[in-house]
Amino acid sequence: MEEALQTIKGVGPGRERQLHKLGITSVSALLTYFPRGYEERSKVVPIAQLEAGQMLSVVGQVVHVAEKRPRSRLWILEVQVSDGVGRLKLVFFNQRHKKAQFRMGQRVFAYGKVERGYGMWQMNSPQVDFLAKEEVIHPSIVPVYPLVEGVSQFVVRQSVANWLTAHAELPSIIPDGVSRKSFLSRYEAVKEMHFPTSSKRQEEARQQLAYEELFIMQTGLLLLRAQEQDGQAPQMEADGRLVKAFLQSIPFQLTGDQEKAYQEIALDMQAKRPMQRLLQGDVGSGKTVVAFLSLLKVVENDYQGALMVPTEILAKQHRESFEDLCGGLGLKVVLLVGSTKKKEKEAIYQGLAEGTIDIVIGTHALLQDMVDFKRLGLVVIDEQHRFGVEQRASLQRKGISPHVLLMTATPIPRTVTLSVYGDLEISLIKEMPPGRKPVKTYAVDSSYEERLLIFFAKEMAQHHQVYVVCPLVEESETLDLAAAEELYEKLKVRYKNQYEVGLVHGRMKTQEKEAVMTAFHEGRIQLLVSTTVIEVGVNVPNATIMCVVGAERFGLSQLHQLRGRVGRGQAQAYCILVSDSKGSEARQRLHIMETTQDGFKLAEEDLLIRGTGQLFGTMQHGLADLRVADIIKDLPLMVEARADAKRYIKRVGLAEAKVTMEGELRNRFGAAFVRVLYA
Ligand code: ADP
Ligand code: MG
Repeated sequence: MEEALQTIKGVGPGRERQLHKLGITSVSALLTYFPRGYEERSKVVPIAQLEAGQMLSVVGQVVHVAEKRPRSRLWILEVQVSDGVGRLKLVFFNQRHKKAQFRMGQRVFAYGKVERGYGMWQMNSPQVDFLAKEEVIHPSIVPVYPLVEGVSQFVVRQSVANWLTAHAELPSIIPDGVSRKSFLSRYEAVKEMHFPTSSKRQEEARQQLAYEELFIMQTGLLLLRAQEQDGQAPQMEADGRLVKAFLQSIPFQLTGDQEKAYQEIALDMQAKRPMQRLLQGDVGSGKTVVAFLSLLKVVENDYQGALMVPTEILAKQHRESFEDLCGGLGLKVVLLVGSTKKKEKEAIYQGLAEGTIDIVIGTHALLQDMVDFKRLGLVVIDEQHRFGVEQRASLQRKGISPHVLLMTATPIPRTVTLSVYGDLEISLIKEMPPGRKPVKTYAVDSSYEERLLIFFAKEMAQHHQVYVVCPLVEESETLDLAAAEELYEKLKVRYKNQYEVGLVHGRMKTQEKEAVMTAFHEGRIQLLVSTTVIEVGVNVPNATIMCVVGAERFGLSQLHQLRGRVGRGQAQAYCILVSDSKGSEARQRLHIMETTQDGFKLAEEDLLIRGTGQLFGTMQHGLADLRVADIIKDLPLMVEARADAKRYIKRVGLAEAKVTMEGELRNRFGAAFVRVLYA
């Protein structure tokens, strides 16, 4: 349904422009722009009756606005609102753009935790809504949408509400004959999601919509899969000269698991069907070597190979290790990344098209339409969860039907892999290369700070490097960032004239981030403070300490990933988990980290202890963004949707399924995906 936004009452060119800023360009996009949370508006309380420690809502008028700057990197905005009787101070940190929004007399709604301030109640970083002059606050559950600057909650809310009021029905997006026991129509479900009548009904609605979403996703994956299997793959011969030369030249022996994984890959590629295999193995287990072997096999068969990774740094690192391990084999290998000069890029495009380049290692730049291969035999995608289906699909378009090897260091339990990746074959590397010392792991509280600082200095004195990671959680990103910056300043002062300290955080531009990471990689920075999960897979063998502050805020798998950043060299490495959490669950979790180094076991513990989407943390899952469904919580729904999708395709046939589902697949997976599927 591509109904235009301006057909909605109250939406003119101005509001339409605002909605565009959110990426909403049609009515259907608006209706599926679901809230990120809800506000309880039943609790609007007079300011005089506030109570410390409670989450409460207040409505008042702005009577005073002041900005303070106690430190160079900290801006504090203080806004006083009055409801005629009492006054309340709203406090915001480093959100300078907010200042202009608080005009004197503006009516605001604020929701947050009430604290005792100096002579006045106070809310730190409350949720704020700007109210129109006449806008009445009814006691209700109100949707809170993810927004960008210049767009108000009110506009989204009203637009959705006005459409819902003017209509009574929404066509189903699940094809006829596929039915799930549900008590809500699609219209009701969408309405409940935006304006819930109760949290129970909202959860019912969420499940209904999650099922729809999963059904579409599974149909898309099944169709893509059917198409891939249909294709003719470049068939490889048994192992030849390059593979043999490589195995003889490397300074170590493959581990049993590496050997086995490679054999599975080799057999797949010797068949006529395109390989679709997922190689799972803990950080440092030696997946890259297996990938190189697979690429060599393709090259000795006179095909080309591509290795795609999520960041430039990783691409460069792979390029270097390829040079180290395979430099003597005389292959033509190139690096293609975003920053590659235009001229060079053009030469690479030409080399790939003419077949003079054997292997290309690169980032998303590889996906550009310009990149055409003469004889693409294998695509390897490292840290594949960082890429979407759409991107996976668009690389597959580059050859007839090349073999595809996906690699991931994020251990994913079998139940999850089966339902998320469906029919993908899986190879597992569990065994670590010999001689690897386990990373000594200690959980401590912040009373150890001084001892830690001395310990860091001791390691740096031996030319080792240190990571210090502070978590950044969405709800209090600004405060977190301020805390990380403060720690950074402190460490800088502490190690002044001795060691170089760097900071990298999620708000930095990609280029700035990469510059800092490169400096760390090259040893120009000895201690790196980071708020983001450090780029997956970056290899700094010289780093011996991974210190995580606020460790209780990470999932076990994430902590394990972070720990995998160290212990890559000869020296003993340490992982220090700092947490002041007194909760027994948190302590138990950190204790597990001290006692186990097995990533798969940790992932399972994560599931047992938390039972939710923690496992994936902020990581995506190689699928289009799911808007409603939660891949762990809704696993049973996913299994159901997958079975239904299979049955549906079997019943109506591939061709009809494709026609019927095209619109929804386009909505969910985007144009590139559809282009591949419908080519
Ligand atoms: P992953 O990609 O799985 O994180 P890598 O392939 O980068 O791991 O391997 C980590 C390190 O271990 C590399 O320096 C690599 O050369 C080395 N390595 C890989 N396989 C072996 C092996 N069988 N024996 C000894 N060292 C190995
Ligand atoms: Mg790797």
